[in-house]
Amino acid sequence: MRRSADGPPRPAPASFPFSSAHPSSPPLNDEDPKGDHVNDTDLPALAEAARSNLPDLLADLRRLVETETPSNDKELLDAGLDDIEVWLDQRLGAPSERVRRDGGAYGDVLEVLYPGDGDGEVLLLCHYDTVWPRGTILEWPVTVEGERFSGPGCFDMKAGIVQGVWAIRSLREQGARLPSIRFLFNGDEEIGSPASRPHIERAGRAADVTLVLEPSREGMVKTGRKGMGLFDVTVTGVESHAGLDPESGASAVHALAELVPRIVALAAPERGTTVNVGVIEGGTTRNVVAGSAACQVDVRIQDPAESTRVDEGLAALIPSDTRVKVEVTGEWNRPPMNPGPATEHAFGPAREVALELGEELGQISVGGASDANLVAALGRPVLDGLGAAGAGPHSRDEHVDVGRTPHQVALLAGLLARLADG
Ligand SMILES: [Zn+2]
Repeated sequence: MRRSADGPPRPAPASFPFSSAHPSSPPLNDEDPKGDHVNDTDLPALAEAARSNLPDLLADLRRLVETETPSNDKELLDAGLDDIEVWLDQRLGAPSERVRRDGGAYGDVLEVLYPGDGDGEVLLLCHYDTVWPRGTILEWPVTVEGERFSGPGCFDMKAGIVQGVWAIRSLREQGARLPSIRFLFNGDEEIGSPASRPHIERAGRAADVTLVLEPSREGMVKTGRKGMGLFDVTVTGVESHAGLDPESGASAVHALAELVPRIVALAAPERGTTVNVGVIEGGTTRNVVAGSAACQVDVRIQDPAESTRVDEGLAALIPSDTRVKVEVTGEWNRPPMNPGPATEHAFGPAREVALELGEELGQISVGGASDANLVAALGRPVLDGLGAAGAGPHSRDEHVDVGRTPHQVALLAGLLARLADG
């Protein structure tokens, strides 16, 4: 499926939810062509604008959260992305370029481009899928209590999407210079980005900087993420009667029990490598020597070289009973992301902006992988964790910290303004 800005007419925004205080869709190319205000973007004014826009931002967040988008529910993903397209047009006007790629069984990939004042292009990477199954919203509706906005997928990462849009709006309202901004929305991040990966890599290669609007960790951005390998170890033995004829059997369960400690021993925490055998299954019943058994393994690595060592270790899994066969399937899903010179290209300006907003910006390496890993592996500048403040991703404690939201919006907006200067 492919659509473009000059394709079929887009649905007109039925009710423009703007008050007169929020002029709709200010032009991207501001009237002031001089651009000497570029380096002194009024950050306090951006923060103030983010505070006054907060009610509208939270209404947008409610809209996105109430439109459920589980990674494995194509029907809901399609409807959710349809709604995001309509909402983007309402908030940012028509993009200069719009492409929606068919994700097959997975969520479609939407790219929209909002041209800026210079040559530079910033990619804002956002996933619209969540880990929450259809109907979660019925038992866990959006609630706002004090500073706490709660609802399935609000923190990971629908608030990031909404903050990205409001950062652009506040910069336009201020007449600040903007880089060209390409949003890429994918609907399969939570399951490893199988369909969107080539599009993320192409867009990441083309962009000067990629900013990933995944949640922050206590206000810190994420400059390191572990790589992840997902493997299945399948063991095939020989079935026999456990009482009458045990000698002719070769137990797959016994063999797997022997192999699991060797799989776990591939961990090397001092090098950042962890191994988890998360699922184990095998056998048919008590008095049968088991013919089959299997386990699911999750490996995380910080050091890229570790993938070879782990691969070799998995290939060397040979049980003592040579009649038992072992097959290892799976792959390295995302390579590790480590801070380097390319990171500084994005983190440096972000830290400056944060300081001007009165805070020291922390950076952290985390064990979870994201699409940032894919862009970092290309050697391109990428900064992750620029989305929401809050906590509890993938848990019922998931929530966005409303009080911190204006700061997060201003930080992103200020960073975008910096990046307009190259
Ligand atoms: Zn996420």
